[in-house]
Amino acid sequence: MNYNNRYRLRPSDALAEQLAWTVDTCRQVYNHFLHRLNRTDNTSAYSEQKLLPSLKKWWNDLKQVHSKVLQKVVQRLYDNLSTLRGRKDNGYRVGTLNWKAPGEYRSFTYSQSGFKLKNTSGRTRLWLSKLGEIPITLHRDIPDDAEIKTVTVKQEPTGKWYAIFGVETPDDPPAKPENPEKCVGIDVGILKYAHDTDGTAVESLDLSDERERLERAQRNLSRKQHGSANWEKQRRVVAERHAELKNKRRDFLHKLSNYYAREYDLVAVEDLDAKGLVELPGNSRNRAGAAWGMFLRMLEYKCEREGTHFVAVDPAGTTKECASCGVSTDKPLWVREHSCPACGFEADRDANAAWNILSRGITKRLGAGRSESTPVETALPTDTDSVSAKRVVEAGSPTLKERTASAVSE
Ligand SMILES: [Zn+2]
Repeated sequence: MNYNNRYRLRPSDALAEQLAWTVDTCRQVYNHFLHRLNRTDNTSAYSEQKLLPSLKKWWNDLKQVHSKVLQKVVQRLYDNLSTLRGRKDNGYRVGTLNWKAPGEYRSFTYSQSGFKLKNTSGRTRLWLSKLGEIPITLHRDIPDDAEIKTVTVKQEPTGKWYAIFGVETPDDPPAKPENPEKCVGIDVGILKYAHDTDGTAVESLDLSDERERLERAQRNLSRKQHGSANWEKQRRVVAERHAELKNKRRDFLHKLSNYYAREYDLVAVEDLDAKGLVELPGNSRNRAGAAWGMFLRMLEYKCEREGTHFVAVDPAGTTKECASCGVSTDKPLWVREHSCPACGFEADRDANAAWNILSRGITKRLGAGRSESTPVETALPTDTDSVSAKRVVEAGSPTLKERTASAVSE
């Protein structure tokens, strides 16, 4: 199984300068190969990587960068290219790959070799070929049987340095149950963050304090003279406030996605790429879209790790359709109740949507035969338990009784 762990690096000033120099050299290498890509036919990551040794003959700086790191730069360019092509194939309007300016390129990666974790007299250091030893805070252990495959060194806009370890453990993810018992559909929304088919509704995370602090810092920055020492100092403050906001949201989404991946055998959500975000005004649309995307990605990899089925379904009409009889009725956003004119079924708007998402998920993953046995008619929840985002952050889950928690204590 593969996963990433992120650790704080604490380089000396001299080392930090060297790290920044390496990032910038990699950025130039990226731009060099982008230039070639745009002017040469039939290039590939593999064929371009083979040019690196001869490049070193006239580009002296490259001798100071580990060869695997340079190979990864070329790989990154071609990975970006195939992502772009994939999006084009899916009907997105996309431009071409962009030249990277300083500040738009923040990391470099060692793959397979050129790095080592060292522990001398209780202090852990990350040794990097061509760079030296950097103190690192290992706040989370790396299992003994795990193998570190890659090390990415990255500087955040706050100025802080991190090492992201790509770790591989020999154990495969647990097998997915063939007959999932505990299944859940989740409607990710705006007023409530998530509404599920077990009657749990999680409120949206309140980030207004953090947002206010960020805006105050930004206003402060705009009053400083661009490029002055005070401006640079304040720019760091703005980046810190940004990081605070991001971390708080990430923590909330980690805990919520952990809960669903651990608690259930099958989790069904709406496919975000297809989800219409048009109901929302521009600013909150972008913000919600980004947070939903992050939630779904977390949920997907955590489900894989836990051996839980993850299904993303077509979101068309999930709010309009009646979860009980299937008849569609138009419903503007402000109508919070679902009341079916055909069969009389009544439910919260989001609960009804969550049930539709679940039955589509079961059909998609397990076949039509199974969805007929979904207990939609018999088990529709009568109550909704409204949970604050704060409870998720503090307790790590929206419910106080967790199956996994009780399994551990037994
Ligand atoms: Zn109905």
